[in-house]
Amino acid sequence: MPGQATSSCWSCGTMRAEHFCSACGKVQPPVPVDYFAFFGLPGKLNLDVALLEREFYQLSRKLHPDLYSTADAREQQWSLEQSSQLNDAYRTLKDPIKRTEYLLRLEGVELEEQSKGATEAARATGQIKKQVVPPDLLEEVFDLNMQLEELRMQRKMGEDDPALIEEVGRQKLELEEKHDALLQELKREWTEWDRAVDGGSAEDRLKVRDKMVDVINRRNYLRNLVRDVNEVLES
Ligand SMILES: [Zn+2]
Repeated sequence: MPGQATSSCWSCGTMRAEHFCSACGKVQPPVPVDYFAFFGLPGKLNLDVALLEREFYQLSRKLHPDLYSTADAREQQWSLEQSSQLNDAYRTLKDPIKRTEYLLRLEGVELEEQSKGATEAARATGQIKKQVVPPDLLEEVFDLNMQLEELRMQRKMGEDDPALIEEVGRQKLELEEKHDALLQELKREWTEWDRAVDGGSAEDRLKVRDKMVDVINRRNYLRNLVRDVNEVLES
């Protein structure tokens, strides 16, 4: 369950609301909650982003440093901390992929860092980054890698094979389409997840969780592949 901390207002003693006291309106010391709980949301993935945005702007205004310029040092500090929590939470939750990855982490999944930076860091230290090719892509990826290798060779020798470039470009488009389609697949899993949160068993949740991990991994794999193709095409 999201950490809904209930305690008394430090200033007037009334039961406080999440960020401000519901009675006297004073900013409250931040409590360590996850991003969903910060917005008073359950850990579900179908989320009204427009509503989230409204809440974000409303809270931003109420936490604005100008409002605390004459407040005591504690309140200034707390409003800053709340602001920074607010920004992190909003940035993470409004983005469909970041939201899913965040939830998966809360659910105990360690997703592999797939960023360009991480890949380069791994290369620089001589680590081999294991990239498991999704089985349904094995053949395609194998062919594509051969063609990319050929293209790299040609580039090195200052030659160009327009037919090969066109073929690689065509495959890139296909990969991008697959990449985009996976977002739709992920969204279907969101609904399964939300249903499991509402009334499913722990087993149901695990099953959906692992499906989402699979979709995210495939999506990241495709993204990296497209990036590799672009690097060769633009070299
Ligand atoms: Zn109060």
